[in-house]
Amino acid sequence: MNMIEFKDVNKIYPNGTRALHDISFSVESGEFVFVIGESGAGKSTIVKLLTCEERPSHGSVILGGQEVTELPDKYVPFLRRKIGMIFQDFRLIPSRTVAENVAYAMEVTGASPKEIKRRVPLVLSVVGLKNKADVYPAQLSGGEGQRVGIARALVNNPRLILADEPTGNLDPVNGEAIMALLERINRNGTTIIACTHDQNLVNKMQKRVLQLEKGRITRDEYCGNYYCASTDREVTSIEHSSASVSDFEADETEAFAEFSESTPPSTERINLLDSLAQDSENRRKRYSSLNRTEEMKEILKKIDERVKQREAMRRQDEVLSSHEAQDSSEGNKIEPGEFFK
Ligand code: ADP
Repeated sequence: MNMIEFKDVNKIYPNGTRALHDISFSVESGEFVFVIGESGAGKSTIVKLLTCEERPSHGSVILGGQEVTELPDKYVPFLRRKIGMIFQDFRLIPSRTVAENVAYAMEVTGASPKEIKRRVPLVLSVVGLKNKADVYPAQLSGGEGQRVGIARALVNNPRLILADEPTGNLDPVNGEAIMALLERINRNGTTIIACTHDQNLVNKMQKRVLQLEKGRITRDEYCGNYYCASTDREVTSIEHSSASVSDFEADETEAFAEFSESTPPSTERINLLDSLAQDSENRRKRYSSLNRTEEMKEILKKIDERVKQREAMRRQDEVLSSHEAQDSSEGNKIEPGEFFK
């Protein structure tokens, strides 16, 4: 099944810059794809179209089998919760500890405190930060900061992770370790799209490479080198070093196995937007099943408070992650009923 499909996508920004020209490609569920290209080639625009931060000027973007080109703005935050995002600058909340940063990504989805308490330590073990749960981002090294970014992206079991220059702020050893971690996550069935200009890492990883030049796809190959053997340019050969692998201790490997077991196999996973609908339905059921008896009033009051808190946190999160939904939903042709049956 295709996780992503771009069909004849054009993106022209309001100032007239044409960032993408008739882009068509698809990514299957479970693939690991590097999107490479010079600065300004259009890599981030592809990511922004997937998270609906930007909309295509023409063409269609399909995610998990569902057209999201004109997904109404009010569903965009739900969609984003289904995608794990990793940023070059990590985007951690400085006033929260490592565990709280990761927990926050679960809180905004309405996860129960019990589930948060169970999953956060597990995911921190997976990224090798079990012992840093209570420290603040300022006390972390760059490599550790990005591991928190990965833990946060991973904690809600996304089917898709979008990593925008994930190693851009890291030295080669840490960059390699981060890529090794992403590769492990990918082996667990999560589709990964990584935008990068890190030639050495791309060559080393031997994954599919989608190259952009001035908004056009100039190469889509599985040869796995930044400079493909079919070009005249020299292929930079880098031996696999043990650094990336030995970075993980046995207990982290175990944690990964446990985490993987708690994640349903990709074939059994439900459609992305079906799961958005399920989220909404679960929430509706949770609240409507409560009878408004005297006894329940107190509980309802507490739930209302928590819903308000969560909403406030969600808004703060959206501001922090610079992914605010656009103001207007004018022009959206898709009716909500199609997503929330
Ligand atoms: P990359 O991620 O490969 O560096 P981008 O997708 O950020 O490339 O940018 C592609 C092109 O679109 C560039 O020419 C850039 O200047 C332009 N661009 C990106 N965002 C905007 C925007 N919000 N408004 C106008 N032009 C933009």
